[in-house]
Amino acid sequence: MSELAIGVDIGGTNIRAALVSKRGENLKKLSERTPTDPRQVFERVKAMVNQLDEANVVGLGIGIPGRVDISNRAVLSGGILNLAGMDLVDQLETSLGKRVVIENDCSMALIAEMSIGAAKGFQSAAMLTIGTGIGGAVAQDGRIYHGHRTAGQFGHICVQHDGPECTCGRRGCVETFSSGTALRRHIQEAGLSAASIADVFEMASNGDVTARAVLRAWTAPLRVALDNIAATMDPEIIVLGGGLGSDAARALADLPAVAPWFRPTILPATLGDDAGVIGAGLSTFSGTFGCTEKRVVLVNGVPASGKSHLAKLLSQRTGWPVLSLDGIKNPFLQHIGGVDREFNRTLGKASYQAIWSAIREAPAGSTFIIDAWFGFQPKTVLEAYIKDARVDRVAELWCKVPGVVAGDRYGRRLKDRLPGHPGAEYIPELVALADRAEPMGCGPSMSVDQTKEPDMDDVTAWISKVFGQTSK
Ligand SMILES: [Zn+2]
Repeated sequence: MSELAIGVDIGGTNIRAALVSKRGENLKKLSERTPTDPRQVFERVKAMVNQLDEANVVGLGIGIPGRVDISNRAVLSGGILNLAGMDLVDQLETSLGKRVVIENDCSMALIAEMSIGAAKGFQSAAMLTIGTGIGGAVAQDGRIYHGHRTAGQFGHICVQHDGPECTCGRRGCVETFSSGTALRRHIQEAGLSAASIADVFEMASNGDVTARAVLRAWTAPLRVALDNIAATMDPEIIVLGGGLGSDAARALADLPAVAPWFRPTILPATLGDDAGVIGAGLSTFSGTFGCTEKRVVLVNGVPASGKSHLAKLLSQRTGWPVLSLDGIKNPFLQHIGGVDREFNRTLGKASYQAIWSAIREAPAGSTFIIDAWFGFQPKTVLEAYIKDARVDRVAELWCKVPGVVAGDRYGRRLKDRLPGHPGAEYIPELVALADRAEPMGCGPSMSVDQTKEPDMDDVTAWISKVFGQTSK
């Protein structure tokens, strides 16, 4: 039976709850009006969760409207609905007997959009949810970035220091100009007879100057906020979600073009109202949201093919740890001293096993880079290790060098070699090996020309594509 989670999204108007699979499928959903009394909100959430709970549910994630301190699992403040000071997490954990995770509601939506929506495949993204207010969230290196505690409150980016009062205690926050509430105010102040944003768009497209001015008053401050986000965070993309996200994206596209240094790529969210509950569910599966899969990058190549250099560059780019066969084996060679080739090979096999047992013990959501000459063992051995370590996704970087280049490099490094590594007599064998060696082919493979400095933009783009694919 596959593991499931319950995701809850507490909104100002509705509380949504859903049974969510590890792949982000919304299997069963409930929605109820949000009571105004926070105490009743808690009771309502408990009742909805009990309705969805079943044996294979591993945890519960809740998206909270307001600022959340995730390390202390506490709600710090809220706008329209303030759940601050409520002992939500402990009480639910006790009554449900399962792990409870809380996050800001927009962070939960971003988790979903990064896993299966508009931001899929991107490592750095920001999101704004435009509804009654404006929510914000930011992700860095594929996970929600919290700063000290509550980074990403983009609704409170100030766009006019003496503007309207905001719930946060300041003036002129973008929420006071570009939220749904603000849009209604712009419509009223302009004396426009429009019941919805669709009406405003239609009037504007028919040449109505007032309707165009309303759209501009609503989105020009948002444009400023988005450019500020680009200037400070430089995310690859900014996703606009919430009830008015796609409308805001459409209105922004109609603003006059400017050419600032900072021009973010803006995309409408694709998961609609489901983003909050799906992200809340996914957030419970592992500490690294957005990816509940275990993944490995095999950096493969014959000795002296430049594997370690490539693995190190990739690690610097991604933050993924490198498990290197020589890194494990060499300390043994140092302590043991001179060993024959057969014993060296035995140490290699043991080191290989150590690498895979470390990966087997690692939690879902982990990604490792393995630096090894995988061809020293048969493909069937590698396949068995991958299966046993419960690895979901494998990408192979094949370090391609002509035999003479590998032989020459190996020769030049001989003076630094550790006891136990073969000497100059190995070079002809290595040259022949390099010329005939091939990738293991246990997953998609990319050939990297190792006669020159690798193009890491190409390498990381390819890996993102391989790891971004939806699992079968
Ligand atoms: Zn504010």
